[in-house]
Amino acid sequence: MLKDQDRIFTNIYGMHDRTLKGAQARGHWDGTAGIIAKGRDWIVEQMKASGLRGRGGAGFPTGLKWSFMPKESDGRPAYLVVNADESEPGTCKDREIMRHDPHTLIEGCLIASFAMNAHACYIYIRGEYIREREALQAAIDECYDAGLLGPNAAKSGWDFDLYLHHGAGAYICGEETALLESLEGRKGMPRMKPPFPAGAGLYGCPTTVNNVESIAVAPTILRRGPEWFSSFGRANNAGTKLFAVSGHVNNPCVVEEAMSITFEELIEKHCGGIRGGWDNLLAVIPGGSSVPCVRGEKMKDAIMDFDYLRGELGSGLGTAAVIVMDKQTDIIKAIWRLAKFYKHESCGQCTPCREGTGWMMRVMERLVKGEAAVEEIDMLFDVTKQVEGHTICALGDAAAWPIQGLIRNFRDVIEDRIKIKRGGTAVLAAE
Ligand code: NAD
Ligand code: SF4
Repeated sequence: MLKDQDRIFTNIYGMHDRTLKGAQARGHWDGTAGIIAKGRDWIVEQMKASGLRGRGGAGFPTGLKWSFMPKESDGRPAYLVVNADESEPGTCKDREIMRHDPHTLIEGCLIASFAMNAHACYIYIRGEYIREREALQAAIDECYDAGLLGPNAAKSGWDFDLYLHHGAGAYICGEETALLESLEGRKGMPRMKPPFPAGAGLYGCPTTVNNVESIAVAPTILRRGPEWFSSFGRANNAGTKLFAVSGHVNNPCVVEEAMSITFEELIEKHCGGIRGGWDNLLAVIPGGSSVPCVRGEKMKDAIMDFDYLRGELGSGLGTAAVIVMDKQTDIIKAIWRLAKFYKHESCGQCTPCREGTGWMMRVMERLVKGEAAVEEIDMLFDVTKQVEGHTICALGDAAAWPIQGLIRNFRDVIEDRIKIKRGGTAVLAAE
């Protein structure tokens, strides 16, 4: 279990003073100008050496992403954009950072922006996060007053402005290029990639889009050193990580732990165990709604990191939003609800996603009622394969994977439902 002194987020539960004074007392904003004085290349190399992989879900190496930004200006300004549009069902970790530990993020914005030659950073925050944006704005205002933002920020010699921009309730605006469109004042619709944002991002300028947690851990990594950070977790899965555990555990929580902790340890140490005991565990979605579910019995010894969950269990760490479902759960209905979510949130600009999410939801609806034919299970799987990998952005995959996980892991439950319906007993429970 991670020791308290190794936790980066020292106020994640809001037990301490979240103002600048409190944050400084806990070691934040310590030696910021000294870190910046070591230069851009040093910062980027340290981040690469730390092994930090992006905490927004995809796990792309953060230092490598920073290194894609042009070293010298070609006349265009560079931007850092922080993706705080946290909307993946089950995911509520960035929320805790912003409302209780906002200075970790703000200091990270300054250092990361300097490393990428950006004098301005936008934090795009989910529209529903009203308290969080109030807390963050109050912290930003404090920093301006204290000279930590603005001209010669934190006496570093770097002029830096930080802006908070509110979303308006669309899940798709968490996709990085849809977010940029929205920030520019247009409807949030994903762009084709490439070009990636480092080549042409906000207003056509070099841009890096990073998740809140990825930026908020950077100052501590740079203060304590990359070896410290990479001493947690397994190779290629380094660091400490915020896990958001919800569902049928006795104590749902957000907790910072070492990457590669086992599922059993995570649940027993921090969540008070599974509701009704381990024999009552039906299924787990280990990384937010976009990754396939896993049968409960395969999860107990699972290692909670990118490579194990994908390689061994065909799922993923994603946002590390761990959704636990016990045997009282109607698993078909739970996945149908996700299908309905993705249909609702599709931006509609590409046909496989716009049409496919509707098809998948409607077939899922009949599976919930047990009203489909058994052959339609394979047909539905085929439809998911027509959507997966055939769309502009990852929402298409995200809609397909939960259904694939259901069919791979719970085909017996689906078939039983159909058989029971033929006996006339299955009904669609209330939504
Ligand atoms: P992605 O793999 O396409 O990209 C990840 C990041 O790496 C992006 O910033 C992208 O620009 C960069 N990148 C990838 N290949 C690159 C290359 N060749 N050159 C330069 N940069 C490159 O994934 P994505 O669409 O950004 O994210 C999908 C993930 O988002 C899903 O896994 C899901 O877990 C997660 N997600 C999170 C939330 C949330 O609330 N945090 C919401 C929805 C989805
Ligand atoms: Fe829009 Fe879906 Fe296509 Fe993404 S995959 S661009 S959400 S239609």
